[in-house]
Amino acid sequence: MWETVRLIGRGICQKAALWDGYRFVSWLQRRRLQRLVAYAKEHSPFYARRLSHIDPENFRLEEIPPVTKAELMENFEEVVTDPRLKLRDLEDFMSQPQRLGQWYLGQYAVSRTSGTQGMQAIIVQDKSMMELLFALQMTRGTVFPTTPWGILTRLLWRARLAVITIGRGFYPSAAALAYAPKAARRFVKRLWLQHIEPLEQTVEQLQRFRPHVLLAYANVLVLLAREALAGRLRLPGLRQIINMSEPLSEGACALIRRAFGLPVTNNYALGECMALTTGCPRGRGMHVQADWAILEVVDKNYHPVPPGQPGAKVLVTNLYNTVQPFIRYEVNDVVTMSPTPCPCGSPLPWVLQVEGRTDEIVWIRIGDRYRMLHPYVLVDCLDEYPAVGWYQIIQTQRNRFLLRVQPAPRHTLDVSELQQVLQRGLKYHHLEGQLEFDIEITDNVAPDPRSGKLRRITSRIGPPEDLPPEDRIISSVS
Ligand SMILES: [Zn+2]
Repeated sequence: MWETVRLIGRGICQKAALWDGYRFVSWLQRRRLQRLVAYAKEHSPFYARRLSHIDPENFRLEEIPPVTKAELMENFEEVVTDPRLKLRDLEDFMSQPQRLGQWYLGQYAVSRTSGTQGMQAIIVQDKSMMELLFALQMTRGTVFPTTPWGILTRLLWRARLAVITIGRGFYPSAAALAYAPKAARRFVKRLWLQHIEPLEQTVEQLQRFRPHVLLAYANVLVLLAREALAGRLRLPGLRQIINMSEPLSEGACALIRRAFGLPVTNNYALGECMALTTGCPRGRGMHVQADWAILEVVDKNYHPVPPGQPGAKVLVTNLYNTVQPFIRYEVNDVVTMSPTPCPCGSPLPWVLQVEGRTDEIVWIRIGDRYRMLHPYVLVDCLDEYPAVGWYQIIQTQRNRFLLRVQPAPRHTLDVSELQQVLQRGLKYHHLEGQLEFDIEITDNVAPDPRSGKLRRITSRIGPPEDLPPEDRIISSVS
């Protein structure tokens, strides 16, 4: 009961923070930044050195040097502000997927990002941070009423939320769900599917549950839109569709809107800062939660890029995580901010577009039908395996792939072990015996030097030539 009251209180505070437009938000941002810097200097040996020239009462953000994922992970134990947190112990804890949702040391939610930038990041957050994530989603990223009265009525009428993630493990979106506050259940009835295959079964489960909100990766939404357009999936009562984790092309947005008659709420977040934005419920772009995070769009020399133009990368400051501070954390995402406020009336900075992290959709053949294979089915098991560094999966024949992989720093790789990892992954996704892999361990899998990104999945053969027409639309949009 007490937890529910606190959650309602936190939700109302998030809404109330916007009362004076951007003025109060920017005041909160400054105050939280000063507190974070002071706390990090005092409790993190890494930041004590790095910020030794910074006076927490009086500094400009640009005076703080940007920090990379490699620096934070190599110095993990000096970065965190709780000396009990040890990298090896955390890796051990996460080696068993069934522990997802168990609080580490009784108080920490743990997760890790995928290795899209050549190495994983391990992220530690406490209970109050997980509560904040839910409170923000409940009041800023929703189409449901967000007045104090509206929030209370949601206790009487629980919305049904269907979530589809792919694979097991501690990746950030799964951790956000597994560590969601218990009191959240009083507001939301949740169906969480961790498979997309077999697709017929997923479709049936969704139809039976009749969700009001559907939350899934962009490519899964495209897949479901295709089922809906073909008349195989009907979701009456659906009021909001939320895309998490993957960028969504204009074509894919249009396709989903046509299939379900609703815009897609897009989220842009990092495992390192899950509260970075919430999608505009009107369906275009995202709002930066500027009271809880700072998003700087910069060029390759770290100079600010004005709104309206895409930057080369972003610097993210997470204002709520004091256990593992991320201050001006460098991420190779190409982001365009809007020069004008969002037409929905939100005073928060409006992100127009995010490019990056795109994988190609590949088509495989199962029995007498071509199937679109979600990229996560292939990358899920590899991302969970700490010895895997940069990698690329290339479709060479319809059901045959070449995996080119480089060991992560200080690790070695073994072909037969990798085959086992892949086979276990396929078994989990009910694709046992359907796909074959050739493996090449190499030290030259490199990202594009300009963007710093690597397309993890590509196809040498493209979609099949004899695809039925309704499927051809999909392969052209994604
Ligand atoms: Zn908006």
